[in-house]
Formats: sequence, structure tokens, C-alpha cells
Amino acid sequence: MKFGGTSIGDGARMKHVALLAKEYREKGNEIVLVTSALSGVTDALLKNAKDASETGKTSSVKEFIADLTKQHHQAAHDAINKSNIVEKVTGEIDSRIEELEKALIGICYLGELTVRSIDYISSYGERLAAPILCGSLNSIGVKSHTFTGGEAGIITTDEYGNARPLEKTYFLVKERMEPLLQDGIPVVTGFIGENEAGIITTLGRGGSDFSASIIGAAISADEIWLWKEVNGILTTDPKIVPEARTIPFISYIEAMELSYFGAKVLHPKAIEPAIKHGIPVRVKNTFDPDFPGTIVVKDLKQSRDIVKAVTVIKNVALINISGAGMVGTIGVAARVFTTLANAGVNIIMISQGSSEANISLVVDENHLDKAVRGIKAEFKNGIIKEVTHDRKICVVAVVGAGMANTPGVAGRVFGALGKAAVNVIMISQGSSQHNISFVVSEDGAKKAVQVLHREFGLEKEK
Ligand code: ASP
Ligand code: MG
Repeated sequence: MKFGGTSIGDGARMKHVALLAKEYREKGNEIVLVTSALSGVTDALLKNAKDASETGKTSSVKEFIADLTKQHHQAAHDAINKSNIVEKVTGEIDSRIEELEKALIGICYLGELTVRSIDYISSYGERLAAPILCGSLNSIGVKSHTFTGGEAGIITTDEYGNARPLEKTYFLVKERMEPLLQDGIPVVTGFIGENEAGIITTLGRGGSDFSASIIGAAISADEIWLWKEVNGILTTDPKIVPEARTIPFISYIEAMELSYFGAKVLHPKAIEPAIKHGIPVRVKNTFDPDFPGTIVVKDLKQSRDIVKAVTVIKNVALINISGAGMVGTIGVAARVFTTLANAGVNIIMISQGSSEANISLVVDENHLDKAVRGIKAEFKNGIIKEVTHDRKICVVAVVGAGMANTPGVAGRVFGALGKAAVNVIMISQGSSQHNISFVVSEDGAKKAVQVLHREFGLEKEK
């Protein structure tokens, strides 16, 4: 079971989490708990590390440290109702925060922040949360110890900020965690691992899901439960369509398509270990624990619902590259993509018609300027005539494995949009046929999602 930032937002919530875990244990389950940082803490750590390196102001570090201490002490007091345990936990918090302070002050003096130090600093969110959760469990009579990702056996590559587990992780985690399960509930820090030299690494933002998935795979868990603040994976954003419903069953493939497209429920990387080991992943709501949520499974009989969900990605921009000289010229796309890769631009969507006269791309809006600058520089005296862009767009994606080999889905999608007078600017469907993505104007996005949600009857109970 993994609990995310808002689920453990403060002491009262952590207590709720400890009670939940205890309840499931008493029903006969063996559990490993994976915790992320208290909500907002990772962001605050990263911001303060950056500020320290840029401004060198030790007074700001001291203020931040005081706030962080207060926040975690308060959480410990609220989560734990035995004074001796509170004392032990706050003592642990203090000694950890003292190390953190030294590191931040060091960064102030050095004026330098390496990727390795960023991982070290950001690991403190989880390392401060874990003792509180563990103390909370102890205070209600559950045996528990804390482990950093590395102590639990997650040994990673050296790719700071985006480390991946080495194969031996699966063996080590199993060896270290399994013997503890009969006796109690081990609490493991999500998000962090260590490399072979024992230096702390992180698995990427939101990486606690990845940690849970690695551990679940290593111990051959029956299920991996990711506790969030929503009722599982929804058919669409309920802010756009109030009738949005929980999808009870979804396949790995569909879930990956959803996460690629901004629904931000599950990161494909995070569920990869589960996929590889064939372990179902369940997304549950901490605030409504009896609700079954969504279960993500390996094989899904092509269900009657051809379309599972409609998602929208905002804060993106469209780039269109055109020129008659591109037609039949080999290597243009390669140059475009290499240029963008070198500029650090992530490409979200691509389309080129068979006329070859233009290539359209969707990128993160924050990457737009460097993308356009890069392409213009690369082709300054050549075959590309025009590079235009549009910020006022959104990507809408229609997802479902049942779409594959079902004729007429695209017809229904675009027919419904046409009837609603929503103009489609760009289209892309990969040949897996699990996802039809298209670009509409920002103003049209809401309507597009509402119309398609209704068209495919996603508001109806299945
Ligand atoms: N605390 C980390 C983050 O904010 C990892 C996580 O929450 O999953 O990215
Ligand atoms: Mg935009």
C-alpha cells in the first residue's frame, strides 16, 4: 500500500492511514506501507535548495528549517497518542532535520547545486514522513520499523533525478521485506533508492508509486494498492463533466494511454514492474476506503465499452513546420526531432500527412519558445519555409483498447464533434488503435470532452 502526499497531509490524516493499515492487517493481509512526503514538502525542499544555491542566504534556510520542524512536530503530535513515542519520533525528526540544515547551509556557501545534491535534499520529505507513520502504527499496537528505499533493497542506476532499479533490487527487497510481514507493517520511504555506492538517488517526481510497484513486484504481492484522494481512475475530469464515473476495471495498456495524456493518475513507468510481474494495481480513495476504486489488470476481455475515458491536456502548444522543400526530402523529420531533443523539448503529439508538406507537433507550453528558436536556427537557410505556433490549444484523447479493430469509432468521435461545431486542428492515432488524440482550440476543449463523454455513454453505470 502506498499513500500519497494529500493522504498523509497532516498528523490527523497519518493517523487515519495507520488505522486503515491496521484494519486491513487484522482482516488477514500482510502489508508493506510506502509513504511519500507530506503534501508540498518535496516542492518546498527543491525550492529552498535552489534558492540557497542562487542567493546564498543562510537566514532563509534557517526560517525554512524552523517551519519544516514545526510542521513535522505538529504532525507527530497529532498522529501519535503516546507521549513516549512522540518524544522518540520528534527526536528522530530533529536529528534528520539537523543534517538537512547542514546540507542546505553548505549549498549556500558553495553556490552550487548538483543533481546528486538535489536528490539528497529532496529525499528528506519521505525520510521525515516515515518515522511519523511508523510511530503512529506503534502507538496503536502495530509493530513497525522504517526503511529508506535503499535499506529496503531498492538499488538503482546513477541517473540522479530519474534513477531506475537494478535487477538485483527484486531479490534484495524480497529478502529484506518478506520476513517482516508476519510480525508487523514495515514502512518504506517512497521515491528514493540508493546507487551501488550507497548514495541516495530518486526515482523521479511522483516516484512513490514506482517504489510501491517495485516492492509489490519483488514480494509477489497479491495486489499493489495506490491510495489517492480520488475514487480511482475516472472516465474524465469531473470538473469538466460532473457525471464522470469511476472505471471499475481497466487494462494496463489502457491505463498507460491515460497517463501519457495528462490524467496523471498513474505514470507508465510506475506500473511497469507490476506489468512485468503480472500484479494487479488498485487505485483507492483514502477518504472513502470502502469504495472499491479502479483495478488495473493484465488482460481485459474486450469489454463492450469501446471507449473507456476521455482526457484533456492543457498548457500545451502547437507547432507547425511547413515548406514545399520538405516533400520527398529525406532526413527533415530526423533533424526536427534531434534539434528538439538537444533543446530539451518533450514532444507530446506528432502528425504528418502523406503530402509531407508539413509536420505538426504538440509540445509543453513551457518548451515552446526554445522549440521554435531551435527549429528556426537549424533550418535558417533551407527547406523549411515557415514555422508557426499556437498557444491557445488543448489536446483531447479518447482512450480504450476496445477501439482496436472496431470500425466506426473515429467516425463517431469526429461526427459528434462536427455536430457540436467543434473544429479539429490536428489528429493522431497510433496503429495500436488504443488512443485517438486530436487538437482543438482552448475554447472548444470543454465542449469536446462533454460531447464525447455523452456520445460513448460514459456517464452510465456498466
Ligand atoms: N514526494 C515525491 C514527489 O513529490 C514523490 C511522490 O510524492 O510520489 O514527487
Ligand atoms: Mg495552451
